[in-house]
Amino acid sequence: MNIDATIFSRISSLVEQYTVITIVTHINPDGDAIGSTLALAGILVQLDKRVTVVTPNDCPENLQWIQGYSSILKYDKQKQEVLQCIAQTELFFCLDFNNISRLEELGENIAKSSAPHILIDHHPQPECFASVMLSVTEASSTSELVYHTIMGCGYEKYLNTQVAESLYTGIITDTGGLSHNSGRPELYRIIAHLLEKGIDKTAIHDVIFNVFSYDRMKLLGTILKDNFVYLPEYKTAYMYITIENQKNHNFQLGDSEGFVNYPLAIKDVVFCAMFTEYENNTTKVSFRSKRQFPANEFSAKYFNGGGHLNAAGGRRACTLQEAIEVFVSGLASFKEQLLKV
Ligand code: 5GP
Ligand code: MN
Repeated sequence: MNIDATIFSRISSLVEQYTVITIVTHINPDGDAIGSTLALAGILVQLDKRVTVVTPNDCPENLQWIQGYSSILKYDKQKQEVLQCIAQTELFFCLDFNNISRLEELGENIAKSSAPHILIDHHPQPECFASVMLSVTEASSTSELVYHTIMGCGYEKYLNTQVAESLYTGIITDTGGLSHNSGRPELYRIIAHLLEKGIDKTAIHDVIFNVFSYDRMKLLGTILKDNFVYLPEYKTAYMYITIENQKNHNFQLGDSEGFVNYPLAIKDVVFCAMFTEYENNTTKVSFRSKRQFPANEFSAKYFNGGGHLNAAGGRRACTLQEAIEVFVSGLASFKEQLLKV
C-alpha cells in the first residue's frame, strides 16, 4: 500500500496546531468505526489533546469493552452535549465513512463548522468534504489506516496495549475474522506489531465473535429456516427479518450482525442480501458478494447505498415486500455479471 508520507506531516501539523479535537464516525458504528476512533482518541489523549468521540448512535454490546467507549457522546441520546462539543471543536477527524450523509443529522451539524476536517477512510469514491484526505480503498479497514497514521506521524511511542486492541478489533471485524479483504502480507506485519504490544488475540476474537445470546441464536435459526430464499438462476440468495421476528426474539441492537454472510457459504452463491424491516416504512439492506461482483454498485443503484465491492448496504423508503421485489427485479439487470463471476 503506497501512502504519500507528506499526508502524515500535514496531519501531525494540524494535530500540533489544535487542542480541541472531535473524532466522528458513521451511523450504526461497527467494529472498525469504534476500533479506529477509539484507537486514535487513545493516541491523541496522550498528546494532551481534549478529545471527544461522537457517534450518531450507539454500537453493539460486543464492542462496549473497548477502552474509551464509556466517554463516547451519542448524538441520538446526547444532542445538546454533541452540539456544544461541535461548537468548541477546532479540528475534526472523520473516520470510516466516505460521505457526510453517513452521519445522517449529525453530519449536517458537522458540515456547518468551519474547523478543518481530516478524513481517514477506506471506502471507494470519497466525497471531498475534508481538507486532508487519507482515503485508501485497498486498506482492509480504517483501523489499518489509523495504524499507518500513528506510525507516519511519529506517535508510535503512544501505541499501547489498549490502542493495539482497538486497532485489532477494527481489522478483524472488517475482514470477517481475516477471511476477506485481508490478503496483503503487510497486514500481517501490522498484526505482528500489535501482538508485540501485548494484545490477547484469542480473547479479542472471543469477545467479538462468540457473544450470541440464546435469543439471537434462535433468531438466526428462524431466519435460516423460514426467511431464506435461494435463487440459483442468479447465483444469489437473500434473507429477511420482519418486525414480528424481532419482537418474537427480543431483538437487541447488533443481533443480526454477521447474518448476511451465511448465504455465501453455499458453494454457488456469489451475491446475497439481508433485509431488515423497520417500523417507519423503511427497509435496510445489507449486501455481500464474492470475487468481482460489485455489491456497492447494486446497492447504489437500487437502495441509495454504497460501501465496498464485496460488502455494501443501503436502505429504501418502502415495505419489506417492495424492497424484495426491487431486489429481485434488479438481479435481472445484473444477470450477466452474476453468472460470470
Ligand atoms: P453492513 O452490511 O455491515 O451494514 O455494511 C457493509 C458496508 O456497507 C459498510 O462498511 C458500509 O460501508 C456500507 N453501508 C452500509 N449501509 C450503508 C448505507 O446506508 N449507505 C452507504 N453509502 N453505505 C452503507
Ligand atoms: Mn471500515
